[in-house]
Amino acid sequence: MKTIILVRYGEIALKGKNRPFFEKQLRVNIKDALKGLEPFSVQFHRGRYIIEIEAELQHAAIKRLQKIFGIVSVSPAYRVALDMQEINRQALQLLEEDPRENLTFKVQARRSHKNFELTTPELNQDLGAYLLERGRNVQVDVHNPDLTISVEIRHEGAFLYSRLFPGPGGMPAGVAGRGLLLLSGGIDSPVAGWMALKRGIRLEAIHFHSPPFTGEGAVNKVFDLCSILAAYGGKITLHLAPFTEVQKALRSRCPETLLITLMRRAMFRIAEKLAQAHRIQALFTGESLGQVASQTLENITATESVVSMPVLRPLVGFDKEEIIAAARKIDTYEVSIRPFDDCCTLFVPRHPVIRPRLEDLERQERHLDLDNLIADCLRRVETHHILPRQVKNG
Ligand code: ATP
Ligand code: MG
Repeated sequence: MKTIILVRYGEIALKGKNRPFFEKQLRVNIKDALKGLEPFSVQFHRGRYIIEIEAELQHAAIKRLQKIFGIVSVSPAYRVALDMQEINRQALQLLEEDPRENLTFKVQARRSHKNFELTTPELNQDLGAYLLERGRNVQVDVHNPDLTISVEIRHEGAFLYSRLFPGPGGMPAGVAGRGLLLLSGGIDSPVAGWMALKRGIRLEAIHFHSPPFTGEGAVNKVFDLCSILAAYGGKITLHLAPFTEVQKALRSRCPETLLITLMRRAMFRIAEKLAQAHRIQALFTGESLGQVASQTLENITATESVVSMPVLRPLVGFDKEEIIAAARKIDTYEVSIRPFDDCCTLFVPRHPVIRPRLEDLERQERHLDLDNLIADCLRRVETHHILPRQVKNG
């Protein structure tokens, strides 16, 4: 049996010309997220998406929809003909499905189809009276009801529902351009990626690993993080960049205190080149000011000065506690704390400089054949397309 899900988005906040673009992209993202739950259809009519899907898959579909940026809320709904008898019957069923005793309710009608036989207040009143008469032990409470029975009168029929599940809001991934996330296996960068997705960025990720020093566990972690993020923003393209040679060169030739900053500069250079080759417009990182010695304003400036592309740091205003809370909420936390070394934790100096001087860094880099090391790393990048990790009944 087919059932309906009504999907609402932030239509009111959208301005003129952006709107059709937003609506089209959101429809694509919804269809992508529901892959595997076929057969279903996604129609778009006047400010709502109407999804038709098999009854037993409705629950799984709603769970997935609740993660898609751009969606404000979803409701499992019934569709009946534009006929008061049908509407009464379906509303009564909704009322009777609620197991609570001495239930209070109200009717909330909304009409986008103006030729319907009743006005909105008439519909509220007539349907309310019908339910009051037919329902068992029910009362009307317009201010604080246990159950709100909503009726939307639309061209395509009357839609009735009583439950509303919140979506994440934000913008559909893909409407705000493309970004490359520097994704470590840590707690912060996946959250930064989630925030980029939230503002409509279509995300790719780059992870630097150092085989054989970093094992398969570290890479699996990053795969898992991408598949969690993909549930919010559709498929994620992950680029695995082999960083061993760069690190070895840095370690053998440069003072330990500058290593982290020099490594970051190399990562940024590689990430920017890769982004340019894929027509990506900005880099995203999980850095936040002052969290560790390598994240002072001076270190951030030293790192950023090697690229010309904008580097966005969505976590800059967050405390560690807030980032951890966000990581838990988006389900990346448990993966991030799995104990595998990433390439930075392997070679971290005991005392990184807090205020590196640009000329010191540049002098160190002149000793290295950086251009070749970078070109070689880029040549050996492996690219994977990672789909959302979805559980059919989850
Ligand atoms: P995270 O929790 O994301 O690792 P962090 O607070 O531990 O962040 P650092 O380890 O100093 O901070 O890294 C700062 C940022 O640099 C990360 O958020 C990430 O964007 C990027 N980064 C660090 N290591 C890697 C890596 N191996 N691959 C890709 N990006 C990385
Ligand atoms: Mg880290």
